[in-house]
Amino acid sequence: MIQSLKGMPDILPKDIHRWHEVESTLKNLFTLYSYEEIRTPLLESTDLFSRSVGTGTDIVEKEMYTFVDRNGDSISLRPEGTASVVRAYNQHHLGHSASLVRLYYMGPMFRHERPQKGRYRQFFQVGIEALGKSNSEVDAEVINILYDIGLHFKLESPILQINSVGDYVCRTPYQNLLSQFLVTHQEALCETCQKRITTNPMRVFDCKNSTCQEVILAAPLIFDHLCKDCLSHFEILTKQLDLLKIPYVLNKQIVRGLDYYTRTAFEMTAGGLGSQNAVGAGGRYDLLVEQCGGEPTPAVGFALGMERLLLSATNISDHKPIQICILPLQGEYESKASLLAQKLRSELPKDRQISIASLVGTKSIKAGMRQANKMSARYVILLGENEVKNKSATLKNMTTHGQQEIEQTKLVSFILGEIDGK
Ligand code: ATP
Ligand code: MG
Repeated sequence: MIQSLKGMPDILPKDIHRWHEVESTLKNLFTLYSYEEIRTPLLESTDLFSRSVGTGTDIVEKEMYTFVDRNGDSISLRPEGTASVVRAYNQHHLGHSASLVRLYYMGPMFRHERPQKGRYRQFFQVGIEALGKSNSEVDAEVINILYDIGLHFKLESPILQINSVGDYVCRTPYQNLLSQFLVTHQEALCETCQKRITTNPMRVFDCKNSTCQEVILAAPLIFDHLCKDCLSHFEILTKQLDLLKIPYVLNKQIVRGLDYYTRTAFEMTAGGLGSQNAVGAGGRYDLLVEQCGGEPTPAVGFALGMERLLLSATNISDHKPIQICILPLQGEYESKASLLAQKLRSELPKDRQISIASLVGTKSIKAGMRQANKMSARYVILLGENEVKNKSATLKNMTTHGQQEIEQTKLVSFILGEIDGK
C-alpha cells in the first residue's frame, strides 16, 4: 500500500471540524482588525527565499524543498509566507492603495525537518503582515492580534516574549563585537557556527547544538547595544503594550530563525507542546520590501503554526454538521428517497451546516438504521409504502427515539423547528 510521505500528515474527516472552527474564527478575528486575505502560490522561485529568509539560515540551507523544474529553473515549495506576500505586494503595487496595507494568509508550508510532535514537513501557517508604517503602534497591533488568538482559544499558559534585534545602524558594530566574542570560544562551537562567526554571527543564537547554546549564554546581546532610535522604538512599543494591557516578558536571546527581522522580534509560547513550544512568532522587517526590489517600506507581521495552535488550544468547539439520513423501507423507494433528499437540500438554507444523505443500497431496515447510527444521524426519515401513498415521511428522532409522520411539504420547516428547539 502506498503511504503518505514522512512528516506530511493527512487531516482526516474526524478532525476537520476542529480545523474549520479555528480557520473561521481566525478569519473573523482578522476581519475585525481590518486585515484582508491574500493567497499566493505554493511554489516560488528559489531566489525569493534565499534573498529574503537568508542564505545562512537553517530554513534555506537545510530545510527547503528545492528542485529544478522542466524548464531548468530552480523553484522551491514555500517554507514560510512573508517572502511571498512581500513579492506580491511589490508585483501588484499594493502599497498604492493604502499607506498601511493589512494582509493575512493561511495555508501549507514545507520544511524538510525531522518530524516529531508539533513539527512536520508539511504544516499549516496562518500569518498577518502590516506593510507601510514604522510606528511602534503597528507592532503593538500585530502583537495584540497574536495575543487575542491566545486568549480566544485559551492556550495553556501562554507567554509572550519580546526583544529588539536592532537595525542596520546598531547591528553592524554589534555583530563585530559578537564575532570577536565567538572567535575566543571557537573550539566549543559546532562546525556550522564556526563558519557563522564571519558570515552571520547572530545565527549562533538559533543553533540547537547544546555546546553552542552554552557559549552563547555569555555572549554580548544586541538588546544591550541598540542605537537611540531602536531603543526608543522598543520603549514606545512596551508603553503601548502596557496601555493595551498585554502582558509580555523581555527575552534578550530571541533572534528568530530568519534574517529579515529588524527591531521588534517576538514569540508566543504555550504549554502542551513539549519542546516545540512556540505557537507563533514574528517581528518587524523594515528592509525586506526594498531588498525584494520594492520601494522602501517598513513592515511587521507574525506567523502561527495551526497544528501547534490545535494542540495547545483548550476551547475549540467541535461543530459537526447535523446529519439527516433518508431510509427507503423497500428497495423500490430508493429513487424516491434520493428525490426527497434533493428536495430537502434545495429547500434548506445553505448556511446551516445540515447534511442530508439518502441511504441507498442497504439490505434491510436494520442495516439502514445501523448505517445511520454510524453516521451519527440526528434524524432518520423513513420512506415506505404508506408514506409514498400519503406524500409524507416519517421523521425519527435518533436521540429521543420518538417518531412522527409529516407531510413532505412541511418537512423542512418541521426539521428546522426541531433543530432550533421551537
Ligand atoms: P521552531 O523554533 O519551532 O523551529 P521557527 O522559528 O522555525 O520555529 P517560524 O519560522 O517563525 O518558526 O514559524 C512560525 C510558526 O510556525 C512556529 O512558531 C510554529 O508554530 C510553526 N512552525 C514552524 N515550523 C514548523 C514545522 N516544521 N511544523 C509545524 N509547525 C511549524
Ligand atoms: Mg524551525
